[in-house]
Formats: sequence, C-alpha cells, structure tokens
Amino acid sequence: MPPVTTAPASAPLATVAMAAMPMAKATAPKLCSPYLAAQALDKAYRKGQCSVPVLRGVDITVQKGEFLSIVGQSGSGKSTLLHLLGLLDVPDMGRVALNGKRIDDLPAATRDELRNRVFGFVFQFYHLLPELTLLENVLSTLMIRHSVFDYWRMRREFKDAACSMIEKVGLAHRLKHRPSELSGGEMQRAAIARALVGQPEVLLADEPTGNLDVQTGREIMSLLTRLNADEQLTIVMVTHDDAIARKAQRIVRLREGRLQSLDEAA
Ligand code: ADP
Ligand code: MG
Repeated sequence: MPPVTTAPASAPLATVAMAAMPMAKATAPKLCSPYLAAQALDKAYRKGQCSVPVLRGVDITVQKGEFLSIVGQSGSGKSTLLHLLGLLDVPDMGRVALNGKRIDDLPAATRDELRNRVFGFVFQFYHLLPELTLLENVLSTLMIRHSVFDYWRMRREFKDAACSMIEKVGLAHRLKHRPSELSGGEMQRAAIARALVGQPEVLLADEPTGNLDVQTGREIMSLLTRLNADEQLTIVMVTHDDAIARKAQRIVRLREGRLQSLDEAA
C-alpha cells in the first residue's frame, strides 16, 4: 500500500469540479496544506455469506479551511465515507491520514481520543439527547472529553464556552429548552453548537439539511458557510441534494463506489 501523499488522485477531479460548479463565495479563502486525506478506501458490508461493496477505491483530500461537499444518491455510500474519514468506522482497505499521519490503523482508544478532539459530527436527525436541555446537550461534548474531576474544576469555563457557542448559532434564548421544545432548524443549530463547542478541527456533516424545509435548510447552510468563511472551519458535508452541495467551495460526486468529477458523472 503506497503512503498517502499530499497530491492524491482526487486533486485533478477537484479542479474540474470547481470549474464546473458555481462558487458559494466570490473569492475562495486561502487554502493551506492538504489536511485530511484518504487513499484507495474500500468498504463492504457483510450480511451472512453476502458482501455488499459500497466504496471501491475512494481517494480524497480536504484542505485546511475548505468547505467540501460530497454529493451522491441515497445508498451511494456517503455516510459510510464520512464515517471512515471521522474514525467512526475502519476501511477494509486503504488509509486515512490527518496532517500526513495515518490515523485509521491506530489502536481503538487512540482513535476514540483523536475523534473526540479533532472531529465534530452533525447528523440529519440531530441525535440530541431528549432528556437534556439545549445547554446540557452542548456541554455533553466537554463532559465526554474530560474526567469528572477536570470537568468539575472547569465547569464555569465550560458553561461560558457552551453559552457563547449557543449564542453564535442564534439560540441564546433557548438554553433551557429540551429538544422536543425546539423546531427542526433549532435542533440542527443545537447539534452544530454541540459539535463545535470542543473546537474540533474538522466538522463532518451528514445531510445536515436533509430533514428540514427548504428555507430552514438554507439558514443552516448560511450558518455553515459563515463558520467556514469567518472562522476558517474545515467542513466536509455529504448530501444527496445538488443545490445544497453547491453552497460549498468544492464538490465531488460519489457514484458506484468512487469519487467522480461532475463531468464524468453527467
Ligand atoms: P448513503 O449515506 O449515501 O445513503 P450509506 O453509506 O448509508 O449510503 O449506505 C451505502 C450502502 O451500504 C447502502 O446500500 C446501505 O444499505 C448499505 N449499508 C449501510 N450500512 C450498512 C450496514 N451496517 N450493514 C449492511 N449494509 C449497510
Ligand atoms: Mg447517509
């Protein structure tokens, strides 16, 4: 298996995709070095004797500070790919690297630690804990990350950080509401605050507007593009919706288990 390089096969595809699709902003932010990279990812799910191949040699590079969309039909393997990038699952073949260092083959405990620190996740159905308030849901990220002793010692700073993140997503007036008392858009904002309160380096968003009406979906996309533009947050978003995908700076399409340029996919 060759090492993950800083110029994987997906780079030319990215260039084609950028030329083919309108940009969300007039000027793209300055990109630094390749940051998150995957090479030759294969993944199949097994059910008894059957094996269902999902990814067949996916190469992808994400630059620090970029907003990348991966678009594909339902069942094309978008969530599978996002899970591999974020260390929620391991590939059958291939590798994932962060800052040039392979991370998919680390011991499980190291992967867990890295995942908690480096990646923030946002899902289509929010996955907020129903019995917790909005503030407690956001704080849960910091609770998981720290020992009971450290959390208790730093609880004031953590509460301030959570409140400030909740304010940033526009929900300061909903601190004590439970998820059942929030609208879909508010729940997704809460999930974004929960993902970002630990200051992850990469936000991985799985169909973040998939359960929302068009207008609310637009508002969530505005929030994500603002976080990307203002704070250089690196975002990888997967979606089945081309119009939503176009809000990102760069788009690649997942089809038949591989990433394609939009020309190939046409
Ligand atoms: P997408 O997110 O693009 O809709 P997924 O990555 O969720 O696609 O799934 C890709 C394919 O893999 C689908 O055909 C799905 O049914 C199958 N799949 C996903 N997860 C599992 C699993 N845990 N076991 C078996 N098959 C799965
Ligand atoms: Mg999915």
